[in-house]
Amino acid sequence: GSAVRLENVRKTYQLGEPVHALDGVSLDVPRGSYTAIMGPSGSGKSTLMNLVGCLDTPTEGTVVVDGADVAQLGDRERTRLRGTTVGFVFQTFNLMPRLNALENVALPQLFRGVDRETRRDRARDLLERVGLGDRADHLPNELSGGQRQRVALARALVNDPAIVLADEPSGNLDTDTEADVLDLFAEFHDAGTTMIVVTHERHVAERAERIVHLLDGKIERIEPLEGRAADG
Ligand code: ADP
Ligand code: ADP
Repeated sequence: GSAVRLENVRKTYQLGEPVHALDGVSLDVPRGSYTAIMGPSGSGKSTLMNLVGCLDTPTEGTVVVDGADVAQLGDRERTRLRGTTVGFVFQTFNLMPRLNALENVALPQLFRGVDRETRRDRARDLLERVGLGDRADHLPNELSGGQRQRVALARALVNDPAIVLADEPSGNLDTDTEADVLDLFAEFHDAGTTMIVVTHERHVAERAERIVHLLDGKIERIEPLEGRAADG
């Protein structure tokens, strides 16, 4: 089945001249697949991610996430989907400034009624896997940009979401840390998670199974990356 399905999706912003941020996009993202999205600035990448992340609804067409038509969901269901089924890594991190790294990572588990000790254990495990085991008690403003980005990643992964959406996940990372993050994505993918990653970087995109190239709000082409699935 599909993790995500878009059917003739159009998203129009009306500021004087209407702008079609997405203009008739149809896309099927199979469960457990690893998709990269590339395209120049303004091609519609963020708009697409916001629709799949249930942060926005299409002007026309249908967005189906994990079997649910997003437009048909109520606010509560949409919030639940965002907190559990979908893990979203924003470009702007959106960390809580008064919570330390561990508390930020632990937070999404509150949606699921996990007990406090399990929440902390799981958050600590994720922080270690992104290389921040020794920064658990630091506040966001005591961390570098790259460290904050990794906290946001750990938070997106902590509920073991079926679908991970990452917008430029390694834009701010040094080479070693980027490799760690991409290895972590591969681990989640191997475990069956559907990965969708927006990137400007060809070498980041090449970790995926296919690249969806956007241009002017349309899918220009879908490039399969042969052999990736077999690499393990
Ligand atoms: P676009 O207009 O194509 O959406 P972006 O907003 O994705 O462009 O990115 C603008 C610039 O900011 C790019 O050079 C990108 O590498 C950088 N960037 C994007 N996301 C991040 C991030 N999370 N941390 C640091 N830099 C980022
Ligand atoms: P990308 O992420 O590839 O840079 P976006 O999805 O951010 O592209 O933007 C696609 C187009 O939609 C751009 O022309 C952008 O200016 C426009 N756009 C995006 N968000 C808004 C908005 N909130 N209001 C008006 N226009 C927008």
